[in-house]
Amino acid sequence: MDPSAPTASPDDAHPSEGAAPLASTPDAPFRSGFVALIGRPNVGKSTLLNQLVGQKVAITSPVAQTTRNRLRAILTTPSAQLVLLDTPGIHKPHHLLGERLVQSARGAIGEVDVVLLLVDASQPAGRGDGFIVDLLRHSRVPVHVALNKSDRVGADAEDLAATYRELLEADAERPRHWPLHACSALRGDGCTALVEALAADLPPGPMLYPADAVSDQPEQLLLAELIREQVLSLTREEVPHSVAVRIERIVEDEAGGKGKERTAVLATVLVERSSQKGILIGKGGQMLKAIGQGARLQMQKVFDGPVYLELFVKVVPNWRSHPGRLAELGYRGD
Ligand code: GDP
Ligand code: MG
Repeated sequence: MDPSAPTASPDDAHPSEGAAPLASTPDAPFRSGFVALIGRPNVGKSTLLNQLVGQKVAITSPVAQTTRNRLRAILTTPSAQLVLLDTPGIHKPHHLLGERLVQSARGAIGEVDVVLLLVDASQPAGRGDGFIVDLLRHSRVPVHVALNKSDRVGADAEDLAATYRELLEADAERPRHWPLHACSALRGDGCTALVEALAADLPPGPMLYPADAVSDQPEQLLLAELIREQVLSLTREEVPHSVAVRIERIVEDEAGGKGKERTAVLATVLVERSSQKGILIGKGGQMLKAIGQGARLQMQKVFDGPVYLELFVKVVPNWRSHPGRLAELGYRGD
């Protein structure tokens, strides 16, 4: 586990000093613990995380497999604290990066108090869902199922839900309880009830993070993700999965000498081929300019102040297949 980031982990979940439960009574103790979000790519895991936490902590995209690192988002209610682990979608690995993503998601299942399996219930259950459900049948901890994208279903809602019920109950030899929750991560419908159900399955315990914390993601990673998000939304399919972002420097300075803090961010966008570099830069630098502007606006929200962003593009052939380079960029298979 990364020694630099977490202040609490599933392995050393003991009381942090001064963190007192907000509304615990002998009848309803304060509860805390870890919840893993598991599901195929694109079912809405990152969207749900952002919805629950009430602000942007994970990047989302219509392109599958955009979440590369495991992210912890923290949700504190009057009676519980949930530490949510966003995992990369589980899928069949094609190259080293893919394998690391699957390892990371599988690892998460083994070290949490509750698993939340997210499915896209606007579509019938498919083989990809079956693969994950089979992984989860052996889970020692409760597995809740969120039937997400409820805003996209109409009269067919029950029929669609039935395809998931059938899948979950397919193994008669190992029957288990799978609480189902219809929700819309995008709109928020059903999310309060979902959180209450998850919290009820956490063990009694103290707060693990300060009540106002929303994420334990290092700032640099968040900034890199904001740039990658712009690349994903502005370029076409051939580029996104070949892109990594490295933050070189973050400097606070006083712009214009008026005592106003400005944050300067220098970042390098790594691609695998020079043709991709060309696409990223665009005609007359237009594409890179648009990526930079989009990311800068998001960063200004993070810093709550002006941001100067400078982007470079660099070709690093096959960065995805080099363990050393993956580690350098923070992709761990833990
Ligand atoms: P992840 O790969 O599981 O993390 O999926 P994302 O959170 O990145 O979402 C994938 C796509 O599904 C994005 O375009 C989201 O806007 C969309 N999406 C997620 N949740 C919902 C939902 O509840 N309703 C609808 N209509 N779209 C959703
Ligand atoms: Mg995601």
